[in-house]
Amino acid sequence: MADEADHAQRIAEDERERLVGFARGQLQGRRVRDCVDCGRAIPAARREALPHASRCIDCQEGFESGTPRLRRSG
Ligand SMILES: [Zn+2]
Repeated sequence: MADEADHAQRIAEDERERLVGFARGQLQGRRVRDCVDCGRAIPAARREALPHASRCIDCQEGFESGTPRLRRSG
């Protein structure tokens, strides 16, 4: 049953490659694109100026002034 073992091995290797590729994609796509509060897309200009911004300007202002626009339900 060497053939079957080979086949299983190949499937395992395939799967591993897929997982590695997936992990790489995750790392590349880690930047937040949507506001964590309202879910709208953060404008590209803002993302360029503040690559780690996780809120749109409106929500960031609200967050900093202590009055978030949306209450998160948890
Ligand atoms: Zn927002």
